[in-house]
Amino acid sequence: MIHLYNVTKIYPNGVQALRDISVKISKGEFVFLVGPSGAGKSTFIRLIFREELPTRGQILIGGRSIIRLKRSEIPILRRNIGVVFQDFRLLEDRTVFENVAFALEVLEYPRTEIRKRVMVALDMVGLGLKAKMFPHQLSGGEQQRVAIARAIVKNPRILVADEPTGNLDPMTSREIMDLLAEINKKGTTVIVATHDREIVDAFQKRVIALSQGRLVRDDVKGAYAL
Ligand code: ADP
Ligand code: ADP
Repeated sequence: MIHLYNVTKIYPNGVQALRDISVKISKGEFVFLVGPSGAGKSTFIRLIFREELPTRGQILIGGRSIIRLKRSEIPILRRNIGVVFQDFRLLEDRTVFENVAFALEVLEYPRTEIRKRVMVALDMVGLGLKAKMFPHQLSGGEQQRVAIARAIVKNPRILVADEPTGNLDPMTSREIMDLLAEINKKGTTVIVATHDREIVDAFQKRVIALSQGRLVRDDVKGAYAL
């Protein structure tokens, strides 16, 4: 499903964020991307949804190169990839419902379809009763659930999350990660960049470790550290 071939990313300032990374992630996998700050985790995530382009190497998603996409093809890629960030990135002047609906409005879905899908997504994340609230009326964990609903409402085949629990306490972090695991069980490929040692150790999923831009470990049922 996701193939990186000899991917190197050098930013314009000369920083080598990724060095010759080759990795294959199959459909339906759950993968943790671990490593210290600056290891290249965010860059890896940003390459997958084409927020950045690699300097060298190839990236295939569903068998297609995402490097040479035409401008008009980028929305199709993004429709298939849901993205969740550490800082939620919700629109503060819009309700929970509107935040999630926005993802479909930009894709020009019909209103009735939007309503139905948004409510399904909010029920999935346990926020069906808070649709009319605004982000500031919610806890951090609830705000992250809204962000997850927004990411999955398009039914993407891939969900990527960059430090999704970075701003949350341990118990809430566990709940958010359980939710991502539940989404994965329904068939979505999930990639989570994280510093959260406790969660990675508890989940026993595939662990890809980066260090200074290099892939240094890839374990089928790994722990945070060796
Ligand atoms: P991580 O997510 O593991 O902390 P990043 O991918 O954010 O790692 O960063 C890897 C390296 O690339 C770091 O040295 C970081 O400072 C650098 N970097 C990240 N984004 C940019 C950018 N937009 N421009 C220049 N350097 C960047
Ligand atoms: P996080 O630590 O949450 O993964 P980062 O620190 O990697 O986030 O990146 C936050 C933002 O700052 C990103 O948009 C990234 O492109 C930018 N950035 C990170 N490091 C650098 C850098 N050395 N030079 C310029 N921009 C950077």
